[in-house]
Amino acid sequence: MKCIQLDRWQLAAGTILSLPVVFACAQADAAPPDVLDLVTDEVETQSTFVDYTILGHLYRLEDAVAGAFQHTAAITLNFHDTNHDIDASTPYNASDPDWPDPNTQVGLTWYQNFSSNHHNTTDYPWFVVYAQHTVANPSTECRGGDIGYGIAFTHTLTNTPNYVWPNAEDRFSFVFLTDVQVYEQAYCVPPDHTPSSDEQVENIVIHALAHEYGHQRAGLTHYPYDFNPPRSTTIYHQGSVPSGRHDVMEYNDQEASEHGDPVFDATWNERVGDPPSTCRAILLNARSIH
Ligand SMILES: [Zn+2]
Repeated sequence: MKCIQLDRWQLAAGTILSLPVVFACAQADAAPPDVLDLVTDEVETQSTFVDYTILGHLYRLEDAVAGAFQHTAAITLNFHDTNHDIDASTPYNASDPDWPDPNTQVGLTWYQNFSSNHHNTTDYPWFVVYAQHTVANPSTECRGGDIGYGIAFTHTLTNTPNYVWPNAEDRFSFVFLTDVQVYEQAYCVPPDHTPSSDEQVENIVIHALAHEYGHQRAGLTHYPYDFNPPRSTTIYHQGSVPSGRHDVMEYNDQEASEHGDPVFDATWNERVGDPPSTCRAILLNARSIH
């Protein structure tokens, strides 16, 4: 870092003012940062009616997620609720209304078919569904016990970090909103377990949606490693986050429940076209994909 001194203002004759010397600092070898026009994503959302009633209480959700992408990469998200009464018997059949396990090939194919039948790719390049219980999750215990549960998933191309599907038909994220609520609140009974507050639940959903949209929008990897296939992905997360915070692409329960403003790792010197070494660089490079 090198500091440069700006010239004093040249004043008109006869005007005698004492002005303070103004200092400004700039990177010695860096050009000024790019000024980016805002990119707008038209995001289609759908939900079951049960999840729609939960969403009715999540006042901060969509603004918080849009704000994270806008702050990081000048990408803003316009959400369009096109269906909030998805037939809950659609998964499998009426006798088994739970949503399939996306970690199986049968389940993933089912979600692909669902997306093909529901996503209006002509008007909305991006797609998010708020869904009920998935069979991939256990169904009785508070999250505070020994269990973990899957909050959400996104269709990604295995083995190809930072890949964005070129065709909108392939783009979809599902958030299992009912599971989040019941694991955080309904199944958590004092004195053994403390239910999450409504604010904490909303923070968790905000992180889940920002995380999934990071996968969908820019193929962002997890920090510090991906499970499938197992590999270190720290090379794509070489930036930093504010003190005490965690990259939204990391799994961190405390971060998710305590903060309503997700953060991505960044150096803040990234420019469009830079190597994919931070979330921000990768998001900047994905801005041109629509
Ligand atoms: Zn993920």
